[in-house]
Amino acid sequence: MIPYGKQDISAADIAAVVEVLQSDFLTQGPKVPAFEQLICEYTGAHHAVAVTNATAALHIACLALGVGAGDSVWTSPITFLASANCALYCGATVDFVDVEPLTGNMSVHSLADKLAAAERAGKLPKVIIPVHLAGHSCDMQQIAQLARSYGVKIIEDASHGIGGSYHEWKLGSCHYSDITVFSFHPVKIITTAEGGIATTNDAALAEKMRLFRSHGVVRDKNGLTRPDEGDWYYEQQLLGFNYRMTELQAALGCSQMQRLDEFVSCRNQLAEKYQAQLLNLPLTLVEPAAGNYSARHLFIVRLPLGLRKTVFDKMRQFDIQVHVHYFPIHLQPFYQELGFKIGDYPAAEQFYEEILTLPLFPSLTDDDICYISSSLRSLL
Ligand SMILES: *Cc1c(COP(=O)(O)O)cnc(C)c1O
Repeated sequence: MIPYGKQDISAADIAAVVEVLQSDFLTQGPKVPAFEQLICEYTGAHHAVAVTNATAALHIACLALGVGAGDSVWTSPITFLASANCALYCGATVDFVDVEPLTGNMSVHSLADKLAAAERAGKLPKVIIPVHLAGHSCDMQQIAQLARSYGVKIIEDASHGIGGSYHEWKLGSCHYSDITVFSFHPVKIITTAEGGIATTNDAALAEKMRLFRSHGVVRDKNGLTRPDEGDWYYEQQLLGFNYRMTELQAALGCSQMQRLDEFVSCRNQLAEKYQAQLLNLPLTLVEPAAGNYSARHLFIVRLPLGLRKTVFDKMRQFDIQVHVHYFPIHLQPFYQELGFKIGDYPAAEQFYEEILTLPLFPSLTDDDICYISSSLRSLL
């Protein structure tokens, strides 16, 4: 079976992890800050907070922005569940903004309409979470302009996007957002097995996220309410979690960062090969908007309506692990219980009916792409 995504682990990656295993620190050592520093240097963000996974990063990002009961958070219906669940973890409610038909990313027009209506109703969201589907950036300039004019905060869910850029800004720079989140799950662009990180240019937000990452505990004497208690003393100042990344994960992340640009350029080359092979077929490609460099997490095609299920099943029979990203969140049973209905986000629902994800990862070969493309051609 050709998988849809797959990690690329080198001898250097393995050596980096082994070195940590033989060192004094398996957790809370020097590797996590080193990894955070690398992510800052790469993205241009001032601060980075590494955590157990991107779901945790989304959770602490929401908490740091003050999301709580009575607040509303908006995201895209075409994303992984975590982009929406993070708001519910904080006791807030979730709502969705419909997508652009071509990219599946949050639609600026729908956002503008929804914000205007929400303002009239006195129900503006606290935070919006645009998701860079497949690594293709949302129109962040427009989204940021809208959000700022209504006083709404932005968390970019760039789980698919490390290594990509929007205009001249690397994803994660937070030029157009308050916080950006990356995932390092093995199917994503670089991996730490499980892992995630939140970047920000706001020192206070970074500090809050660090607190939420580790039990809400302060150790620095300057931050204590009882500075003279003694050197053993630490104090809990808010309700945090244990979302700490281990040294093993961070060492793997540091090592993987050395090849990030290579991975992304390789993914872009493979995408070009797909484009050449799929030319003249009755399908459209979900492509990044002009002026953006995508990390190319997913290669998504849109098939003529009604064909997707058959094509999916046949491709799987051909040992090709095609996938679908994503089933619209508002149609999940859990979200239907919350009151969302079919028809709420028509562009997202239509997008979902047409999409198919083809395998894409650095070690995918030219032969694999030929096989996948000719299999698809035979079915269309
Ligand atoms: C993978 C993913 C997440 C969650 O990442 P984890 O690291 O697995 O928690 C969140 N949002 C999107 C869009 C993702 O693809």
